[in-house]
Amino acid sequence: MAKKNLPFTKSQIEKIVEKYPTPFHIYDEKGIRDNARNLVKAFSWNKGFKEYFAVKACPNPYIMKILKEEGFGSDCSSLPELILSEKVGIIGENIMFTSNETPAYEYKKAMELGAIINLDDITHIQYIEDNLGKLPDLLSFRYNPGPLREGNTIIGKPEEAKYGFTKEQLFEGYKIIKEKGVKRFGLHTMVASNELNPDYFIETVRMLLELVLEINREVGIKFEFINMGGGIGIPYRPEQKSVDIIYVSNGIKNLFETMLKGSGMEDLKLFMENGRMITGPFGYLVTRAIHKKNIYKKYIGVDACMANLMRPGMYGAYHHITVLGKEDAEKNMVYDVVGSLCENNDKFAIDRQLPQIDIGDIIVIHEAGAHGYAMGFNYNGKLRSAELLLKEDGSVEMIRRAETIEDYFATLDFSRL
Ligand SMILES: *Cc1c(COP(=O)(O)O)cnc(C)c1O
Repeated sequence: MAKKNLPFTKSQIEKIVEKYPTPFHIYDEKGIRDNARNLVKAFSWNKGFKEYFAVKACPNPYIMKILKEEGFGSDCSSLPELILSEKVGIIGENIMFTSNETPAYEYKKAMELGAIINLDDITHIQYIEDNLGKLPDLLSFRYNPGPLREGNTIIGKPEEAKYGFTKEQLFEGYKIIKEKGVKRFGLHTMVASNELNPDYFIETVRMLLELVLEINREVGIKFEFINMGGGIGIPYRPEQKSVDIIYVSNGIKNLFETMLKGSGMEDLKLFMENGRMITGPFGYLVTRAIHKKNIYKKYIGVDACMANLMRPGMYGAYHHITVLGKEDAEKNMVYDVVGSLCENNDKFAIDRQLPQIDIGDIIVIHEAGAHGYAMGFNYNGKLRSAELLLKEDGSVEMIRRAETIEDYFATLDFSRL
């Protein structure tokens, strides 16, 4: 079976765990930077190209700072995400505010920061006017193609999804904001998540370009950008392959050249807002085997749990596992690798073929860099782990400390008991 490589060695991790006890998340700076550069380079044909990193995937300001240095903006959907961006110095139109069911105070902060506001619903035009007194000069709408596009398991079918405008509402909405004096326009969609088929993204852009042209003809507005959303998948399984970004870029470039020619929108900017493919493959959850249990099945109990990475428990998602020092050992055992929650779906792996695991072995769970730490929670009184950064020079920096019991109790006042 195929193997996944790690950016660190067993002895490096053994040193790290002396200082930072397991479990923790560790991110590979070099991997993140190389990947970010490849993306920017692949799309350099589009003069306005920008990736707005979906902050929810890995909301750590030190990671965001690295991405800022590589030219990324941020895609935010809540007040704390906006503030995180602001703290990192990502402000103005380097923020895309793609939210839904948004409260007025979040729109207010987004407007104050000069973020690009991407409305999820036609009624929010009036909602912003009522609550903030005016519309921004630049507005974008999120399109939900409904039955015109197939979704996938993580995001669901577009017609079942709560997000976005219908096609009819787009035409109506752009007419309304044009009349109300909005000057600059964008169009957004997000129709898939963790999609590995590169043609899917090319087709998404084709759909957006067709719409841009149609709306331009009917409403008489010029678009400044399209935002094709995030959703580029990553190979969680060793036999899967990464999305070929060059192929996607070439396909989109062709569409831009052929479809926009003569439209007056030849300089349309291309935006995307990926989260998963930006940090996912470059983050690892490092945990330790602390128990072995043999009943009807064989279990390995580790010191991390679903609170550190909930994707396997929530979606049955596959995350590859490496037992440090046993990379080349024969996988002659079948285990469930489990955490300590009083929840039977707290399993990182089910019936996984692995080498013989001994108590004390360090276990690395791959592709935990996006929607990993970020989805953490405190159920069962479990505390969130630390986040570490493996820097390009091989040193390690703690970029978020582990939670303590004091943090867990911080919102309680015991004095009135
Ligand atoms: C979650 C989300 C993203 C990022 O999705 P990935 O699958 O992590 O790339 C981008 N845009 C919006 C609006 C999202 O909700």
